[in-house]
Amino acid sequence: MNKKIVELKEFADFLRINRNNIIDKWVVCESVETIFVRHSMKLSDTDRKVFYDFLDCFISVMQWKLTIAECPIKMQFLKILSDNSFTNFELFELFIALKNAISDVFYEHQFLSFGLQKDLESVSINIAKDLSDVYTQIQKDEINFKDEHSNLLNEYKKAVDLSNIVSKSNTKGIITYANDKFCEISGYSKAELIGKPHSIVRHPMMPSSVFKELWDTIKSKRAWHGVVTNMRKDGRKYVVDSTIIPILDVDGDIVEYIAIRHDVTEFEETKDQLSTLNMAMKNRIDELYNMTTSLEEEASIDSLTGAFNRTKFEKFFDLEIEKAQVSKNVLSIIMLDIDHFKSINDNFGHHVGDEVLKGIVELITKNLKRVDIFARWGGEEFVALLPGTNLENATKLAENLRIKIEQESFSTAGKITSSFGVGEYQDKESKTDMFNRVDRLLYEAKRKGRNRVMSCAS
Ligand code: GH3
Ligand code: MG
Ligand code: MG
Repeated sequence: MNKKIVELKEFADFLRINRNNIIDKWVVCESVETIFVRHSMKLSDTDRKVFYDFLDCFISVMQWKLTIAECPIKMQFLKILSDNSFTNFELFELFIALKNAISDVFYEHQFLSFGLQKDLESVSINIAKDLSDVYTQIQKDEINFKDEHSNLLNEYKKAVDLSNIVSKSNTKGIITYANDKFCEISGYSKAELIGKPHSIVRHPMMPSSVFKELWDTIKSKRAWHGVVTNMRKDGRKYVVDSTIIPILDVDGDIVEYIAIRHDVTEFEETKDQLSTLNMAMKNRIDELYNMTTSLEEEASIDSLTGAFNRTKFEKFFDLEIEKAQVSKNVLSIIMLDIDHFKSINDNFGHHVGDEVLKGIVELITKNLKRVDIFARWGGEEFVALLPGTNLENATKLAENLRIKIEQESFSTAGKITSSFGVGEYQDKESKTDMFNRVDRLLYEAKRKGRNRVMSCAS
């Protein structure tokens, strides 16, 4: 069972697929042959092509609901008829023959719905009427084909010339044509451009690789598209978005190149400005970021020794106590105070005292773990916060530090000692309570003769 077609568009598709079949049927049918014989006319291949064009025109009219005047192909078809003195009636006969050829081919394969048949009839009548009107005008010489064709080309050329920078060059890249816009933007006159190589407008900042790629592309008969920076006669630069097309002769050899460009200088400059602005903003943001970081560092680091200061230590202490409370992890602190530090200042001067403070910090930090936090509590008093270290290990560490300090020989001050208090965080204990407890142990160490570690569970 054949399929029934109900849509005009579907019908148009069918016609398009069966073009060859329809044309064959059309041009050999009796009525068409009779007319051609009458005019002693034999269809050349070009004429035959026009018949195809005409069928395509018919299909477009039907599919897109255009008028015949909106399909330019018809003119060539009508011109052949007019050149061979076909009458208006003969045109009509040809048209009926086409419609019959369509019907013949179609009914071999499909069915048309009743509605579609009616559409086809009305579309055909409209086309026939349109065609006849146009043909009458042609016969009265009211339409001149040549003019119409060349007028259209001229219109295109004018439009392209007005809106673009256009140049042509021969196969060696020598300029053979330059339009007004090209002269205007480059600052050269036509006489200065024509006969010169296109490189006359080349800007030194353009890398040769771009031109190599351009020539490789167009020499292989492909169009090239890209953005190029050129140089005006006065040395200023201009930027053009360029399309270069190779023009081929009938043998497929390149005869010339047409370049169509438009000015994008302003756009490129704005882009450059934006990127400079972006860069400046990025630098400013980096600057602000660095400023904030160094301010933050200033607020948390002791400037003499580089250890954390008391404020920062207290923040860490709060945090670690909170963590210890939640996770039940152990947490210990060691407090130390340099023994008889005042006498170092008194004997060798404040500067030597400062060096000792720095040396102590360096020595202690070397012996702590990454998670440990070491801070200068004030003066010659320091504190280490040891997350994950219990009292026993904290005491061992303090003892170890005590020995290391005792054994160290400071350049001017010589031997020094220090006293330690060690404590482990007790559940529910406040930060101040823990701190005071350890401070008391340190005081105890001093009282018992210095250079010793005092520790106690609570
Ligand atoms: P003790 O064994 O009892 O701890 O005696 P000490 O002399 O170490 O203790 P004291 O508290 O009497 O003296 C601490 C001294 O530390 C007093 C102060 O001048 C000095 N000091 C505090 N901060 C600095 C500093 O930044 N640089 C120097 N050079 N000395 C400092
Ligand atoms: Mg001291
Ligand atoms: Mg002290």
